[in-house]
Amino acid sequence: MKQISLWSLIVVPFTLLATLGGATVYFFSAVTVSNVSDNVGLHYMREIETRVYDRVNDFMKPLNIMVEINRDAISNHPEYLDNLDLLAGRFYEQALPYPYMTFISMATADGRYVNSTRDPFGSSHHIATNYTNEPYSLEAFYYDPITYVGQPMTTEPVHKNYDPTTRPFYQDAVQAKETVWGSITPYYGYASLGVGLAAPIYNKQGELLGVTATSVALGALDKYLKSIGLVDNSYVFLAEQNGDLIASSRQEALYSKDGEAFKRVSLTSHSDEVFVQAGKSLTPGTQHLNVDGESFLYHVRPVELPYGQTWYVGVLIPEAYYKNILTEYSQALMLIVLVIFISIALAGSLIARYIGRPIVHLNDAVNANSLERIRQIAQPFSNVREINSLGRGLQKMADKLSDVMQNLEQKVAQRTSHLKDENELLLEQSTTDELTGLYNRRGFNLLSEQALLQARQFGQSFCIVLCDIDHFKCVNDTHGHSVGDQALIGVARVLQHHFRSHDIVARYGGEEFMLIIVNMDKDGVMKRLNSVRHMLIEQPVLDHLPITLSFGMAHLQPPVKSSLDELINDVDAKLYKAKNTGRDKIVE
Ligand code: GH3
Ligand code: MG
Ligand code: MG
Repeated sequence: MKQISLWSLIVVPFTLLATLGGATVYFFSAVTVSNVSDNVGLHYMREIETRVYDRVNDFMKPLNIMVEINRDAISNHPEYLDNLDLLAGRFYEQALPYPYMTFISMATADGRYVNSTRDPFGSSHHIATNYTNEPYSLEAFYYDPITYVGQPMTTEPVHKNYDPTTRPFYQDAVQAKETVWGSITPYYGYASLGVGLAAPIYNKQGELLGVTATSVALGALDKYLKSIGLVDNSYVFLAEQNGDLIASSRQEALYSKDGEAFKRVSLTSHSDEVFVQAGKSLTPGTQHLNVDGESFLYHVRPVELPYGQTWYVGVLIPEAYYKNILTEYSQALMLIVLVIFISIALAGSLIARYIGRPIVHLNDAVNANSLERIRQIAQPFSNVREINSLGRGLQKMADKLSDVMQNLEQKVAQRTSHLKDENELLLEQSTTDELTGLYNRRGFNLLSEQALLQARQFGQSFCIVLCDIDHFKCVNDTHGHSVGDQALIGVARVLQHHFRSHDIVARYGGEEFMLIIVNMDKDGVMKRLNSVRHMLIEQPVLDHLPITLSFGMAHLQPPVKSSLDELINDVDAKLYKAKNTGRDKIVE
């Protein structure tokens, strides 16, 4: 089974979980934020668009209301046309609540004209007629609450020959036979566009009575669009279907003037490329617009005015505005995720270290195969209770083991020394003859080789002697076996007595003894052998029973070349000869 480290076991899952968690949080947050930011952009745009849309509708509503009220009133009451001053008062009062209502007028089929008139910015409000003093002489009058047409405002008429039936608003309405929009034009002498609605009036018999018209100054809408607090680089505009601008949030002019002639600015002819691109895609709905590398969320909403007029409200929001929200949020989110990730990995690493280090420490001590190292670990070596307890347990075990080992070592030493003694005893026993205490045949074999080697090594003389008790069978037969044994013991003692401690005296067979004497001349050996013979006579080992020995002897001067077997055979033959030639003698 594959083994993994404690560190990997803790840190790797921690890191994997942190990565997985972080990625999941980041992914879901990024998706959510992306949706939210898209919605933010969309909502912001809709909010602006709705505000402008409502404002335009509210602003334009009095225009057709006034036209319709007056058209219906005069149609039902043609007698109103008999006293146009009354209409002057009516129109003046109708215009009062609407500061940008520049004209409310009535032009009769017979060329009379009455008008509540205001400058496009709503500051001056008065009455104009073309019938009061002279026919077709258009003059301006102060409003008078009683007579309505009050004092003239100037000494000279505004227009000396003003026939309203020749004017475009009149002719367009009569030609269309229904309420029609005038074209949007700048007011004479004022920096504001205006637009009018003109309705032809017929009596019950269908005869044309005249045309009533209203006009409103659009400068107020332009002012309104410029006053909306938009995010940087945003655009709001109001345009006609053909793209001619009516109002805009930007500062550029809406028309240019060359004397009497003027030229409207259209979206597609605008100096700002954003308007140009917006003009090219002037279709209701939301779209993405890319202008010189900058992306916009672009929304167009039609404003349906009565009598077939449609204008467009357009809003352009730079995508960077809400994408920035996303980027900033994402960066913050990434940072938070990163910090969480690092913290978790760090925590995992610390925990692994906290748990792992003492275990590694313990592991090293255990693997060092040294009880002493385990015993020497300082306590407490971990703040984790279980690990500490494990360590203490190991130390106790090490202490006990150490004691046990010490005892064991002592016991083994004792046992070894005992065994050594026993071995030595056994060896001694195995090489010693039980009866006489001399070396036995085995002892002789072990020592004789060494003695031969010693003689050869040091260039010493080597002497080997085989001796046998004469007629020993008779001793046994006559006196019994135990007496025989006593005799053997006595002979052995005598032999041993006559030789040096390092000379070999061994019981070679039943009543045969083998001697090896190194580094002693032949005379010395002979002397000792003869002394043995004499002592056996003079001091018999058995009472009144003389014991004699026969000897076969070989004495070699250095260098000793013969093998031990050859020498044994030699002395055996010499002993045999001694036996055959009368016994109790030494054959050399
Ligand atoms: P020879 O002079 O030719 O050596 O005659 P011998 O009787 O000594 O020789 P033989 O070989 O016929 O007899 C040896 C006897 O030694 C026979 C045996 O009973 C006796 N013997 C051998 N070992 C022991 C022993 O350990 N104890 C006793 N009591 N007798 C032993
Ligand atoms: Mg014998
Ligand atoms: Mg014998």
